[in-house]
Amino acid sequence: MSTTTTPRRIAVVGSGVAGLTAAYVASRPANGTHVTLLEADDRLGGHADTHDVTDPTGRALRIDSGFIVHNRRTYPVLLRLFAELGVPTQESEMSMSISDEATGLEWAGALGRRGVFPSGTGNHRNPAYLRMLREVPRFHRRARRLLEAATDPAADPTTLAAFLDEGRFSPYFRRHFMEPLVAAVWSCDPDTALDYPAAYLFAFLSHHGMLQVFGSPPWRTVTGGSRTYVDAVAAALRGSGAEIRTGAPVVSVKETTGGVEVRTAAGLEEYDAVVIATHPEQAIALLAEPTSAQREVLGALPYSPNTALLHTDERLMPGATDTHASWNFRRPAADRAGVLVTYDMTRLQRLPTGTRYLVTLGGEDLVDPATVIARREYAHPLYTPSSVAAQRRLPELDSDRLAFAGAYHGWGFHEDGARSGLKAAERLGLLWGGPVAPANVVRDEVAATSYRTTLVHQRREPIANRFEHRTRLWVVDLDRVDAHGRAPGGRGRFLGRDHFDGDTDSVREGLDRFLAAHDLDLRGGRALMAAHSRAFGQCFNPITVHWCWKDRDGRGRPAATVVEVHNTYGGRHSYLLDTDEHGRAVVDKALYVSPFHGTDGHYEVIAPPPDPTTGRLRLAVGLRTDDGARFDAGLTGEPAPAPLLPLASLRGAALIRAHGIALWLRRLPVQPRPADERSLQEGSIR
Ligand SMILES: Cc1cc2nc3c(=O)[nH]c(=O)nc-3n(C[C@H](O)[C@H](O)[C@H](O)COP(=O)(O)OP(=O)(O)OC[C@H]3O[C@@H](n4cnc5c(N)ncnc54)[C@H](O)[C@@H]3O)c2cc1C
Repeated sequence: MSTTTTPRRIAVVGSGVAGLTAAYVASRPANGTHVTLLEADDRLGGHADTHDVTDPTGRALRIDSGFIVHNRRTYPVLLRLFAELGVPTQESEMSMSISDEATGLEWAGALGRRGVFPSGTGNHRNPAYLRMLREVPRFHRRARRLLEAATDPAADPTTLAAFLDEGRFSPYFRRHFMEPLVAAVWSCDPDTALDYPAAYLFAFLSHHGMLQVFGSPPWRTVTGGSRTYVDAVAAALRGSGAEIRTGAPVVSVKETTGGVEVRTAAGLEEYDAVVIATHPEQAIALLAEPTSAQREVLGALPYSPNTALLHTDERLMPGATDTHASWNFRRPAADRAGVLVTYDMTRLQRLPTGTRYLVTLGGEDLVDPATVIARREYAHPLYTPSSVAAQRRLPELDSDRLAFAGAYHGWGFHEDGARSGLKAAERLGLLWGGPVAPANVVRDEVAATSYRTTLVHQRREPIANRFEHRTRLWVVDLDRVDAHGRAPGGRGRFLGRDHFDGDTDSVREGLDRFLAAHDLDLRGGRALMAAHSRAFGQCFNPITVHWCWKDRDGRGRPAATVVEVHNTYGGRHSYLLDTDEHGRAVVDKALYVSPFHGTDGHYEVIAPPPDPTTGRLRLAVGLRTDDGARFDAGLTGEPAPAPLLPLASLRGAALIRAHGIALWLRRLPVQPRPADERSLQEGSIR
């Protein structure tokens, strides 16, 4: 007798990034579903919107007018989708200009000195402007402080205006820096920009490295325009048996006791579960019987409409060519509502053409109609203290059969849409499955990954004692550290002088030399290091772990694992571990590390490389001395956004000394330091 199960019928309403991600996750084979994607428009993608354009020389181009850039640090869900679908991406160039017709100021950030002091503008003689430049780093510092103090940035109702008042920022700074930045990033009216909640905004800016002059992650575009990835999702959906209907606006959605009724022009359809991935006011209009929470929360999340024009009218670019940037904010002299920003798509997408293709938001009255190639109506979420408060209530709206998604669940960006689509699918019990971070993505793009870690020190003999601390660590691809010790994605520097014998320029050289001394040649293979970076002239790493593979792919068990130990007296020793498949090894102790232990005994080490699927890190070192004393140290960690300041090394050095004093006060017997540590034998491998 054979049994067949009916697939769970899932409908996804809306095919922006939120709906596409939800549909993609829902249609994974392990979920046993049949997915129907319903889109009102006659194309898929929502704000992912690419136009076919032929330039004057006859060259075919694909130009975006909606979603443009992402990066490999703060778009993990989108990247996972791209990686699984093999979506090609390429480097972009992010810079921003600000032109104010009333005051005549034109300047640009991220274009170097010429953007700040463009020739012919006289900016260098403008005292208000020079003061504003000094206010920028002060603003970054104060914003970071506000964030550090806020336990929950989304719950802090302080507006940007109140924040700037308190810091006595000049009106010039507000007009020529703050308002343009917020208006351009969130496509909102500059006159309402200062009503945005400060901490919520700063959390976004900080996350994207924008609360500092340097440190923003490199930005990228999808090669061939964002339609490339939309088509790839659609192909994957069709491949898994999903049904895709465009030109199919959903009219109503009603949750019943047994499922969800969806009405379209084709009639009434029954589903087991539905994801509504439209904008909030569209979602509320769809709900046949909205609950009071759905009405209150969705009704408190406003969007503002914007017309986008794809055109070639270069008059929308700033007057001073030195300030021509990828994003160009302009404030016209005439009083008008809404944002006016022009994206240089030729520059952003690195289009192979001599024509400058531009997308202008809010410039209908300014762009020469003869140059317009396409016109679109988009809408962006507006953030106010009350909309941010409503956003926090969004999880209340979902049930086991109905879940909501859309970029409005986060900061309004593509990653927010993708993340919300994943969450909505998960809420309905549908899982993505498979590896979380395909190794090639992490490997290709991020050379230094920040880890949030917990460190535990425990001793049982001769006295019982336990310390536990939250700390930070980097896992660094040593071949992607540049000549100055910098690694993409990292903060601080990773220098040869801070590792091994300290006499090589790069850490990799020091490591290769150490391995060569043990008859190992792993040059050309992958080498990862877990360590603190050098920052503020300080670098102290009590323990550094290096994992080395024979090839660049670096999969599976490392060919060598090296643990470097540094003591606070300036002594160093490196142990080559003979690890088993779990990363376990035993090695004789060879360096006087703490005043409470001699150099007798051995270490039991567990040091596997970071988990290739989850990225998690787990290290453990147990010291067993000849007199029976036991000391255990363990570190667990997972990838996390980088801290604002790389202080872990400084803090670690201070804590070690504080621990020493605390243990000494508890009369833990002190072991004399050997007269000449350097005469000790190198740790042998067991
Ligand atoms: C000009 C512009 C530039 C941007 N640049 C960037 C950028 O560089 N980087 C970045 O990260 N983000 C950017 N964004 C923001 C980001 O692209 C969007 O926030 C995100 O794509 C929104 O995704 P979404 O799925 O929430 O909504 P949308 O993409 O708006 O999708 C909603 C979909 O629902 C459909 N729909 C609505 N009602 C119904 C119905 N009744 N039945 C069926 N379907 C319905 C709509 O037709 C639409 O396709 C930009 C946005 C714009 C407009």
